Amino acid sequence: MSRLDLLQSPAMRRSLPILLATLSLASCTAPETAPTRPDLAGAAAGRNVVLLSIDTLRADRLNAYGYAERTTSPRLDALLGSGIQFEDASAPRSITWPSLASVLTGLYPSGHGVIQNGYELPDDLPTLPKLLRDSGYSTAAFLSNMCRANHQGWDEFRCSQGRDTRASEWALKWVESRDAENPFFLWIHLFGAHPPYYNGGRLAAEELDPGYVGDLAPKKRFLDAVMKEGLELSAADRRHLDAIYDASVIGTDRIVGGILEGLTASGALENTIVVVLADHGEELYDHHKYLYHACSVYQTALHVPLGISAPGLLPQGQRVRQTVELIDVVPTLLDLLGIAPPAGLHGVSLRPYLERPEAGGRGKPAYSEYGDLRIHTVLADGWKLIDNPDSLTPYCFAGGPPDLYPIEEAELYDLQQDPLESRNLAEMNPGRVSRMRELIRKRFVDLQSRDEAQELPEDLKKELRSLGYVAP
Ligand SMILES: [Zn+2]
Repeated sequence: MSRLDLLQSPAMRRSLPILLATLSLASCTAPETAPTRPDLAGAAAGRNVVLLSIDTLRADRLNAYGYAERTTSPRLDALLGSGIQFEDASAPRSITWPSLASVLTGLYPSGHGVIQNGYELPDDLPTLPKLLRDSGYSTAAFLSNMCRANHQGWDEFRCSQGRDTRASEWALKWVESRDAENPFFLWIHLFGAHPPYYNGGRLAAEELDPGYVGDLAPKKRFLDAVMKEGLELSAADRRHLDAIYDASVIGTDRIVGGILEGLTASGALENTIVVVLADHGEELYDHHKYLYHACSVYQTALHVPLGISAPGLLPQGQRVRQTVELIDVVPTLLDLLGIAPPAGLHGVSLRPYLERPEAGGRGKPAYSEYGDLRIHTVLADGWKLIDNPDSLTPYCFAGGPPDLYPIEEAELYDLQQDPLESRNLAEMNPGRVSRMRELIRKRFVDLQSRDEAQELPEDLKKELRSLGYVAP
């Protein structure tokens, strides 16, 4: 039986109602929404933590974030609905290891120094697994990407080289085999919504868009060719590209369902905080005929899903509208668990939103920084500035043309009117551009930077190129 067959099996289909019922049951024990909420500082002390990160999961392709073209994400939607969903979460960089390192450290990439895939986290940095292990947690990570990165702080670490179901099975076995009394921190990272979108199998060709006639397929050489050769995609091609990507989300959603079912069956979710997020999104031909993510500075790649749930502790089905950042995950978890945060975190605790998710307010700006290039973005009050003062042109993927992704010196977008960032309003709003540039300057001027080039071994460069990443 193939992986997809397994995921589509009657047993898996039967399990969804059980999962949804379990998540609903949790609501019966959750406190009712009240005018004033209890102080959640330290309220989750001793709880387990599950971090479920999904590579290349574009927020606006989940039904929970408004996608209406087709059903892509029932299990992820249920998970997001079982706690608090952040509608506007922002990644600090649209590439995997820099963004995940930010999730694990609460720092922007220049702060932790992982400004490219393949770079190493400094040994002296506190990371979430190190901090939780020091507080008595068992820590385990089961990933299917970034196998060669220098992961730190894990009692158990396994990486499945792209096989999401294998990583999931390892994780569930680890949880079930534990007999320790101490709490655990489990990290699962799934890869199958990443190019070439293999978690979709043949779903796009056989079910989502069966009549398609053309060259697009979920294979790297076909996808690369679009960018290398500057191919103009027709409306039919774009529909099929959407179907290919959506299929990978659907396949990933099924795997998430299996993980949640397994964790539920073992009782592991009862006393657990679950954080679900993506490291970045995907362009899918929305800007500069670019499909992937590594050089994107647009919301297609920077807007990510983020949800935090904790049965009996956090309310269900609530949404936070304010902009938040992935660097806020570490301070938020430490705050809930009652563990003192290390000095110098760039993120802030989102506990006030968890206590009063319906509260109004402007929130804070969100930033991203483009590795070793002086390119930043800032998102504030519904506006987005891309600041590229040296007019640099990022190099997008191994073997791709060097001028594929031109970024203007300043690009300003009104995201409420123009969510796909198609009309640059910088020239007619010089005052707003200046103010937003000043936000960027102030944000980064006093932060300790480890933004230095690292030399990668040749075999690692080769491996990163094979994945489509640019190796410096
Ligand atoms: Zn990634």
